[in-house]
Amino acid sequence: MRRFIVLIPTFIFALVLALGAGGILAYNHGLDSLAKEGNTRMELYISYLRGVLEKYESLPELLATNKQLVNFFQNPGSRERINALNLYLETINTISDASDTYLMNRDGLTIAASNWNTPKPFVGRNFSYRPYFKQAMEGKLGRYFALGTTSSERGYYFAYPVRYEGKILGAVVIKIKIDSIEENWSDQKADFLVVDPDGVIFITTREPWRFRTMGSLDPQVKKRLAETQRYPNASLLPLNLVEQHRVEQGKVIQLKLEESGKIKSFLLQEAAMDQAGWKVYALSKFKPVETQVIYTLISIVGAAGLAALTILLYWQHQQQVAERQKFIEDNRRMLQEANEQLEIRVVERTAALTETNDQLRQEIAERQKTEEELRKTRRELIHAAKLAALGQMSTVITHELNQPLAAIRSYTDNAVQFLAKNRIDNVEWNLEQIKELTERMGGLAMQLKIFARKSSGKLNIVPLHGVLDGAMEMMAPVLAKSGVKLSIDMPQELEGVRANAVLLQQVLVNLISNAIQAVAEQDKKKVSIEVVREEDTVLLRVQDNGPGIDPAMGRRIFEPFFTTKDPGKGLGLGLTISARIMEDMGGRIRLVHTGVGACFEITLNREISQS
Ligand code: ADP
Repeated sequence: MRRFIVLIPTFIFALVLALGAGGILAYNHGLDSLAKEGNTRMELYISYLRGVLEKYESLPELLATNKQLVNFFQNPGSRERINALNLYLETINTISDASDTYLMNRDGLTIAASNWNTPKPFVGRNFSYRPYFKQAMEGKLGRYFALGTTSSERGYYFAYPVRYEGKILGAVVIKIKIDSIEENWSDQKADFLVVDPDGVIFITTREPWRFRTMGSLDPQVKKRLAETQRYPNASLLPLNLVEQHRVEQGKVIQLKLEESGKIKSFLLQEAAMDQAGWKVYALSKFKPVETQVIYTLISIVGAAGLAALTILLYWQHQQQVAERQKFIEDNRRMLQEANEQLEIRVVERTAALTETNDQLRQEIAERQKTEEELRKTRRELIHAAKLAALGQMSTVITHELNQPLAAIRSYTDNAVQFLAKNRIDNVEWNLEQIKELTERMGGLAMQLKIFARKSSGKLNIVPLHGVLDGAMEMMAPVLAKSGVKLSIDMPQELEGVRANAVLLQQVLVNLISNAIQAVAEQDKKKVSIEVVREEDTVLLRVQDNGPGIDPAMGRRIFEPFFTTKDPGKGLGLGLTISARIMEDMGGRIRLVHTGVGACFEITLNREISQS
């Protein structure tokens, strides 16, 4: 916008320059055209004037040679002769279309005239004061312009001497009316002035200028003009003409038009009509020049306006383009800023994430460390537990072995004493006791052996009925002695289970044996075995109506060497070993709370028929 504002004075300056230059050029060109036209008009006008003058110029000379006129001077004679002369001159005047034709004697007295029959005839009047008469008397062609003293009409006079044998007798004069020249030559575009040698305008196309002068008249000239009565009653005031400047083909002048009071410009051109002693002025109206200048200025202003409009439109277009570019640039910058902010935020977030990550990694490391410490602690605890278990086991085994060993020692001492006394029966009984004790110790060794064993043996598909029958057979003497009522509930048809028959039997024997021991104090001793077929498994539950198991002990009963039984009655390994056997067979054992006594449930994998 600022650039545009700066352009305005420049534009105005250029416009003023263009207007000035254009105006001057148009003015000069217009003036030139006007001058050419003026010249042409002037030439035409002058040739017209010359034509008029030449038409009459030779007529007086011709008339002067007329014998009738010469004779008349030689013998002035009677009234009739004058009348005849008058008639002759009238005829000549009519033919030549002149204003007046008349004959003067040497004294300047008019002897005969074509206007003899008019109210103001020249006959008898003396015009000796007129220059044309004087010129004729000098033997020359007299020519003169003057306002008629009699007729008050402007006239141009030609006078020629009438001679006889070289002697001037008088003069014949022809007067032409000027009015018709003016009437025949009125032009809208130019005014014409014909000025006499004194500078008096005697022919003009503009009536108020008549008998005005081109410049101030010399007093002597004024006096002479008055004497010759050339322009009687004429004011002879100069025209209000101010010269502006000269140009090649004339002058530019300003003239106050008295009729309208306006000051108008004209191109003034002059030409001389030497023979007549006149100067002819053409005053071409300035309007075409002014019009041309105005049109040129309007054209320049129009062109400048058009140029300004074009520049404005171009500027507007540029502004729009700039605004669009600014908009795009702003958007791009905004996007870039948003992008940068995003990047900064990403970097910040990344830094925060990295920090969080580091913290997490640190936490993980700490956790790992803690876990490691925990694992270590657990390992240490396990190790301690193992040591404790080993200690406990040692205590139990020591206890279990020391008891029979002490008994064996005492039975052996007894046997030795009874043998010395030869009491063989007593020896035998003591040896029997020793045998029983060694068997019991063997059983303990056997149990420990199973516990130490890595695998539970080979698995087969075994019939549960068969296994249970075997167990029942083994338990039959104990059952009979205990007075327990045992009931078995199991499906008649039952597919085999995946198990090791001997070990499974051991588990069942252990569970039934525990149940019989648990109901020992009950009035009605009841143990029931129930087999349930599940989708993939077979469940076998051993339920008794004994005192049950305190829930607080529930977990501990599967620990090795946990027992509530009196020494010699239980090692606390039965359930531990059973759990281990079931685990090896892919099954499991658990204590089920039924609300009555204790209920142990074993899960066995069913052999599903392939058909
Ligand atoms: P033991 O029979 O040699 O004690 P077990 O491992 O077989 O070892 O049993 C561990 C303990 O579980 C028993 O001492 C007893 O307290 C408890 N127990 C096992 N079976 C029963 C049951 N049917 N009723 C009540 N208590 C039982």
